[in-house]
Amino acid sequence: MNRIAIIGAGVTGLSAARALVAAGFDVTLFDKGRRAGGRMASRDGAAGSFDHGVQYLRATAADAAALGVGPLLPWPAIAPKDGAGGWIANPTFNHLAQHWAQGLALHCSHTVTAITRGPRPSGWQLRFAEHDTVFDCDTLLITIPTPQAIPLLTAAGIDCGPLAAVRYAPNWTLMWTPAAALPDGFTHHGGSGDDPLAWIAREDAKPGRSGPPRLTVQASAAWSAAQLELGADAAAEQLIALTAERLGTATASVAASAHRWRYAFAATTIGVPVVTLADGLLYASDACLGSRVTLAVEAGRQAAVQISEGDRRTGTLVQRTLS
Ligand SMILES: Cc1cc2nc3c(=O)[nH]c(=O)nc-3n(C[C@H](O)[C@H](O)[C@H](O)COP(=O)(O)OP(=O)(O)OC[C@H]3O[C@@H](n4cnc5c(N)ncnc54)[C@H](O)[C@@H]3O)c2cc1C
Repeated sequence: MNRIAIIGAGVTGLSAARALVAAGFDVTLFDKGRRAGGRMASRDGAAGSFDHGVQYLRATAADAAALGVGPLLPWPAIAPKDGAGGWIANPTFNHLAQHWAQGLALHCSHTVTAITRGPRPSGWQLRFAEHDTVFDCDTLLITIPTPQAIPLLTAAGIDCGPLAAVRYAPNWTLMWTPAAALPDGFTHHGGSGDDPLAWIAREDAKPGRSGPPRLTVQASAAWSAAQLELGADAAAEQLIALTAERLGTATASVAASAHRWRYAFAATTIGVPVVTLADGLLYASDACLGSRVTLAVEAGRQAAVQISEGDRRTGTLVQRTLS
């Protein structure tokens, strides 16, 4: 049976794995994180949860239903565009990732440090930072940001092709529980242009959420790039000052922390959903079609279709047809 390994259990990896498993393939996912989701991430604090990665999905009701699933709620604060409204996951975006990961063979805390040609005909072998073991597969799908994929590929002597041209914008994200009250009725704010604050969202005002008033704040790409090497405490302090000034509130905090996403958004994209790098070696991620959950889902699905079709050509396994 064609044994497939996927590096990365973010949206792209999960989407590909779900489609491949539904088609009857033997799929194993590896992720360096403690749980699945990647940039679709949430953090629980004493004061409640923060979605410190993905904020909302823009989708029609039909597309949201097709995404699978369970824990999506409409977020009326987001104005619909072309029939597509805003959707948030309930109770957090990480729960959506866990929902998608259910039933998959997923190994977290497995950082892939090397890929080499494996003993299987045209297969691949993975090595891990945390475990003195190897994993052999027939087909390998890489779904991690290109700057993290390129060293693995280069060390294996594989031409990175269009991956080398992808550029990412970083993002500093503040998770803040202010001590002072927030303006009545405030739900979110989207900045533009030179605004150092690209996004402010009140977590406790999202559908299905509760708890003390608390904010997730994203700095702009320009501010984040300029402050990229700042310590997390210093970044939090500066973002609190900017946010308090914007909302006309005090800077005193019950709790605050900041997270740096070094590869937050693909600023340039490859333009095709999947890249074939070598025999049995594919790449797909949000760098392919764009940094949106829905586009990462699509890249993952297309990778699954390509793997399935390649498998059909070599005739090793044909089970159910991928939709
Ligand atoms: C702050 C922020 C806000 C966002 N807001 C939105 C939004 O509101 N709406 C929207 O649609 N999109 C949003 N996005 C974009 C969205 O999060 C991404 O497009 C999408 O989650 C990318 O999924 P992915 O699977 O391609 O990559 P990732 O989520 O990066 O997944 C890659 C996975 O690979 C793992 N990994 C990396 N290297 C290794 C290795 N060597 N070995 C093993 N595992 C490894 C990582 O741990 C990670 O889990 C946002 C992104 C950020 C950062």
